[in-house]
Amino acid sequence: MDEVSIADVLAEVAVLVKPHFGKGQPADYIPQLARVPRSKFGMAVRTVSGQEAVIGDADEGFSVQSITKVFSLGLALNRFGDEVWTRVGKEPSGTPFNHLSQLEAEEGVPRNPFINAGAMAISDLLLDSVRDPAALVRGFASFLADEQVEIDETVAASELATAHQNRAIAHLMRGKGTISHDPEAVVAAYCRQCALTMSCRQLARAMLPLAAGGFSPLVQETIFPERLTRRLNALLLTCGIYDSVGSFAYRVGLPAKSGVGGGIVAVVPGKATIAVWSPELDRFGTSVVGTVALERFSQLTNCSVL
Ligand code: GLN
Repeated sequence: MDEVSIADVLAEVAVLVKPHFGKGQPADYIPQLARVPRSKFGMAVRTVSGQEAVIGDADEGFSVQSITKVFSLGLALNRFGDEVWTRVGKEPSGTPFNHLSQLEAEEGVPRNPFINAGAMAISDLLLDSVRDPAALVRGFASFLADEQVEIDETVAASELATAHQNRAIAHLMRGKGTISHDPEAVVAAYCRQCALTMSCRQLARAMLPLAAGGFSPLVQETIFPERLTRRLNALLLTCGIYDSVGSFAYRVGLPAKSGVGGGIVAVVPGKATIAVWSPELDRFGTSVVGTVALERFSQLTNCSVL
């Protein structure tokens, strides 16, 4: 990847993705997200050695949604260590991110920290130590991006007003004893966390420790121990794209996390992070154009880890 000009690759990718617009649907179950123009496309790459290249709408903020689950999991693992794994599993779910019956069949223990149930179990854990877990996540993301990022309260309210499925998940977990706080407080914290607004450039910067053995070359601090960094990447590779994680690994070959705002971040361990944004989603909630962009980028730079 170092020999090729990343900017040239991004320019090529931006042309290659063009035929793939119009194939997906924005996340209209969160009404506010349905208002984002479908034609948006941005991509940013940041290397461990400090190179940065962007294209399109890479500096426009969008709702990063489930991508925030990487920040909250990292925070929880740093604070609580292996206690996290007494609340959630480490296995791919093979079911949609808001699935209910698997959770009930498995006694309220979420398969992994990236499905909604798992992320809410993490919010519950964070509520043990802070009053406002969403503010903690926002602060952590701001620190990692080296820029202040904000929660879009309109998006948060829009999701909270229609969060019936997430409420069902939280109440089921409260009933089974997976979470210990008021389910309403857990859902509210989770929805506010998901409503974080970031740009591709900020996301690529914030995820850099995952590509650099836990160290942030941007803020010059160790964020995660090296062993934990490897484990976070393992979880991304196996659980980051929900029930289409297999085909994503087949096509892109990188640890990654998607969000229903249309963002995807991918990690090239030892080398770089890549963030892409395009709001039209496939039926699994992953950006259609974003996946194609990462697939092409991975092919052109030969950066797949597999
Ligand atoms: N806030 C969204 C939800 O709970 C996050 C889902 C996602 O981005 N995959 O439905």
